[in-house]
Amino acid sequence: MKSLLFILSMLLLLAPGQEEARYVRARERMVQTQIVARGISDPATLRAMGRLPRHLFVPAPYSAEAYSDRPLPIGYSQTISQPFIVAYMTELSRPAKGKKALEIGTGSGYQAAVLAEIVDTVYTIEIVPELARESETRLRMLGYRNVMTRSGDGYKGWPERAPFDIIIVTAAADHIPEPLKEQLAEGGRLIMPVGNPATVQQLIVLTKRKGKITAQQLEAVRFVPLRRLK
Ligand code: SAH
Repeated sequence: MKSLLFILSMLLLLAPGQEEARYVRARERMVQTQIVARGISDPATLRAMGRLPRHLFVPAPYSAEAYSDRPLPIGYSQTISQPFIVAYMTELSRPAKGKKALEIGTGSGYQAAVLAEIVDTVYTIEIVPELARESETRLRMLGYRNVMTRSGDGYKGWPERAPFDIIIVTAAADHIPEPLKEQLAEGGRLIMPVGNPATVQQLIVLTKRKGKITAQQLEAVRFVPLRRLK
């Protein structure tokens, strides 16, 4: 009886550890098969995504699918992007220590956390107040002191904290908001899906050099629409 109790208690002690180990393996597989295999090579991006517990950024019923190759629902008709897209946008933004980033569309807070693993400070804005609150709590619990969250319309950016070396917009519109272009620092990079918000968009990279903005058009992508507060 005693040994049975001992075995039971050991199992209980081991269970969370084993679950954790499963997530670690799933995460390593995600980085290798979905991200490295598709050409992402920035060491900082790979390190950040290899470390971040993505399963804590999705609603509990989806934990087991957190490392799969697709976007997942996070409530309020919104989604956490497919891991590859997060990696791709992060690498395109050329994240590095010493930089300051702005994200529009906090959602689950995952993209903000990936950036926060690499850059100095991340400012992130979410239009759905409930999601803004949830992601703020999540990021605080995970110890991200360098992420500043705000609930509101990200179209206007965060002028009090501008300029930003990196601006990542994770919702789609038919144009790049003028205030975001203005808030881009010299040498900065803005990444955003631009096109038909209801169907398909192109990923655009804007760079600002000597005050002049140039645009580069990349892959076709699908994001949820950038909404506007009336
Ligand atoms: N980056 C998120 C996923 C983004 S989904 C993540 O890592 O989980 C897009 C998010 O943009 C949604 O949460 C949506 O509510 C938000 N959004 C849409 N329009 C917005 C706007 N004008 N300002 C700020 N957030 C917006």
